[in-house]
Amino acid sequence: MAGLAAAARARELGAEPVVHEKGDRAGGSMLLSSGVVWRHRTAEDFHAECPGGDRALQRLVVEQLDDALDWLEGLGAPVTERTTGNERTVGRRFDTHGLTDALVRAAGDVRLGTPLVAPGILATGGFGARLARERGLLLRANRWSEGDGLAYALARGADLTAGMDEFYGRNMPADVDESVFVAASQLYGAHALVVDDEGREFFPGEPSWSETDLVQATARQPNGAAWYVVDARALRAAVRERTVADLVETARAAGGEVRPAEELPFALSASPKLVEPPFLAIRVRAAVTHTTGGLRIDERARVLDADGAPVPDLHAAGADVGGIFTGGYGSGLAAALVLGRIAAEGAVSD
Ligand SMILES: Cc1cc2nc3c(=O)[nH]c(=O)nc-3n(C[C@H](O)[C@H](O)[C@H](O)COP(=O)(O)OP(=O)(O)OC[C@H]3O[C@@H](n4cnc5c(N)ncnc54)[C@H](O)[C@@H]3O)c2cc1C
Repeated sequence: MAGLAAAARARELGAEPVVHEKGDRAGGSMLLSSGVVWRHRTAEDFHAECPGGDRALQRLVVEQLDDALDWLEGLGAPVTERTTGNERTVGRRFDTHGLTDALVRAAGDVRLGTPLVAPGILATGGFGARLARERGLLLRANRWSEGDGLAYALARGADLTAGMDEFYGRNMPADVDESVFVAASQLYGAHALVVDDEGREFFPGEPSWSETDLVQATARQPNGAAWYVVDARALRAAVRERTVADLVETARAAGGEVRPAEELPFALSASPKLVEPPFLAIRVRAAVTHTTGGLRIDERARVLDADGAPVPDLHAAGADVGGIFTGGYGSGLAAALVLGRIAAEGAVSD
């Protein structure tokens, strides 16, 4: 998202940008996403949700997103919904194929299968693929984001933010095809008794609404895995436009492990989550969508060194940037869009 948005904005400003795309298609994880580009209602809400994040960058996203969404629509990106369906947030849902096509058209010169060379704007999508591999987790994102942007910037003296071990992701039933990354996400930890391989509850209290905290706790378990155990009442509960039963069926269809709770190799302790039998157990594994820590930038999307001085002629946007969502969850698409545009404006005026 960030690289294409930056190139589209740079071309609009009269530059002749080239997008070097390592993958064999454009759009990165944006193409695979739900396409909901959203913001918290206020900068204060954003900071309360992501307390370790940089307030100035969070404010930029909140203040500039609505104009950036109008700009996307102006480029011909098709909106499928004008609300997010979540009262905490404001945004629009785009058809991700149409969004990618519109941005590629506006960016102009997108070269596939060509890794970055001497970039002015880094937008390689963070290091989710590498983090997943190193920690033995699943990957729920494009497979090319290995941290190449970070490596390039570090070699030029860039500094990193806090939260380098944090990521946004989902618990998944199996290593599923990218076409079902959204549909197969097991987003009902709040309705389940969540236990490790020995039947112990490892997550204290209730997960946050995004369940990012539960996913990160699952990632810290052996094999990055856990069991969700649900009762008949939980199966009827609504999760967005579906029910927990629908999500369990999707897990089964995706090759996940779903079994009666009596067939678990350990005894379950009594829980207020397990009231109405029968009880079903679903195996879940933590999957990385994108990393949260990354390059330190200023409000002009300039990459900074450890003294806070800009690394010459180097901007960054998207998940290559850290310090926006630290400690919580926000819209990666929104930050990539807003900071991609700002990076382009900076690079062109420099
Ligand atoms: C299943 C799923 C659902 C999601 N749903 C949402 C949602 O509804 N709302 C939301 O806000 N976010 C969502 N996200 C997250 C969102 O997609 C990301 O936050 C966003 O795409 C990040 O933008 P980016 O530009 O940093 O990375 P990307 O969009 O992934 O783009 C990075 C690009 O860099 C390329 N690249 C990597 N290395 C190199 C290199 N060395 N040289 C050249 N190119 C390179 C990659 O191939 C990729 O094309 C979702 C993600 C997934 C996978």
